Amino acid sequence: MPRRKPQQPSRPLTGALFAHERTESGPGPHGGEQYVVRNISGAQAGKVYRCPGCDHEIGRGVAHVVAWPVDFGGPDERRHWHSGCWGGRHTRGVTRRWS
Ligand SMILES: [Zn+2]
Repeated sequence: MPRRKPQQPSRPLTGALFAHERTESGPGPHGGEQYVVRNISGAQAGKVYRCPGCDHEIGRGVAHVVAWPVDFGGPDERRHWHSGCWGGRHTRGVTRRWS
């Protein structure tokens, strides 16, 4: 059983990632690709975003996640997701085109 995912919050990741970021396999057009995922707290959510998982808005002040492809080089590729939609991305798919 592979246990290589750095998901232990008590063990900060090395390198460029911030403590609250992690990498997960994503739902994008390049299936199996790795995405950087960051948790956004309600206090940090100062804008309304649209979730690509359900195509509904993520309201101001709602905790959610932001994810972008590791290989795409950066925050310009970020997408904001409801936490539940991101968690169910593999089974429910993506309503909206990723990019
Ligand atoms: Zn959603």
